[in-house]
Amino acid sequence: MKTTFTARRLFTPTEEVFDPLLVVEDGRITNLSSRSSGELPQGSVVDFGDAILAPGYFDIHIHGGAGVDAMRASADELPRLGKFLSAHGVTAYFPTTVAASMDSTCAALERLADAIEAASTSGSGGDHPQARPVGVHLEGPFLSPRRRGVHPPEYLLEPTIAIFDKLWQAARGHVRMMTIAPEIPGAMEVIAEAARRNVCVSIGHSDADMQAAQLGVKAGARHATHTFNAMHPLDHREPGILGEVLGDDAITADVIADGIHVSPPVVKVFLQSKGTERAVLITDAISATGMPDGTYQLGPIQVEVRDGRCTSNGSLAGSVLTMDRAVRNVTQFSNWSLRQAVRAATLNPARAAGIPEMYGTLAAGARADFTVLSPAGDVLKTIIGGRGF
Ligand SMILES: [Zn+2]
Repeated sequence: MKTTFTARRLFTPTEEVFDPLLVVEDGRITNLSSRSSGELPQGSVVDFGDAILAPGYFDIHIHGGAGVDAMRASADELPRLGKFLSAHGVTAYFPTTVAASMDSTCAALERLADAIEAASTSGSGGDHPQARPVGVHLEGPFLSPRRRGVHPPEYLLEPTIAIFDKLWQAARGHVRMMTIAPEIPGAMEVIAEAARRNVCVSIGHSDADMQAAQLGVKAGARHATHTFNAMHPLDHREPGILGEVLGDDAITADVIADGIHVSPPVVKVFLQSKGTERAVLITDAISATGMPDGTYQLGPIQVEVRDGRCTSNGSLAGSVLTMDRAVRNVTQFSNWSLRQAVRAATLNPARAAGIPEMYGTLAAGARADFTVLSPAGDVLKTIIGGRGF
């Protein structure tokens, strides 16, 4: 079955195509051209009028949403999260753990591995598209007790390859990302081993000075987790980890652009430092996202949610941000265009995470996972595997 999608504009996202013709067959993009250079093809054509076609958003740091906690969810609950995410333009995500007991972490990783394997074989959820879980992000247990945020101190561990391997085995090799504090004893070895297994090692939840952060990058880290949050603050005479994160063009970094975790002018500073090629948007969203105020679970942590703020014992505990709002916020907090903001939620996270080029981009050979956006960046429709229109 061949379907051609068209609209006013398309973001690849490195380029903008006017009057695009996006040809989809069997869940893949087989051709991308412009109406000005090609005739309207035969077969069925879906015209989205004034809208913009953009790659599906890729959230590499998300703990839950729609009342579903990624660590606690059973296999039949995760599709509810996938449907919720797709309504906000997300087509792929990394369910993200928090520090918890080894037993419950391993049990969660086994369930998530089941979900990832099921999603890779079961298609897109038919006419009710669901964002796919495509890998696990381990946020913990290798975090600094001094910058742990709400991660319970009793579950933080000093990194060893044996512990990392136990987590890796429980997840059946589906760990694609790991946040680790580079300055804690044992971190360097584990960073090197994880990088060897093609995990995107991300420095964060860290009190590191600049030198320790640089050693982490030398050992194999290539990304940074929620820049500014749970990090030693930037000082102009003692740059610390942030000096490395913001200044080193060899690494990518992400930020929570909800206007609560980082103030809008500092989000702008972040975007200017990392640039359109290296800035990544994440949500760090928890199960409360899309739900009323109240009390929610984040792994083993109880979180109070009020007026868009998630807290536990006075510390920020994730967000209720959705990726479509993060993208729109970036266009308001900075002078970035919608296309640049979209890039930070699509191609950049896919590249940072080392996911092959079939995600995060609209080009021949890529998955037909895309969003239909209004010119203001509102999600009108999400297509996954060429379905859902
Ligand atoms: Zn998180």
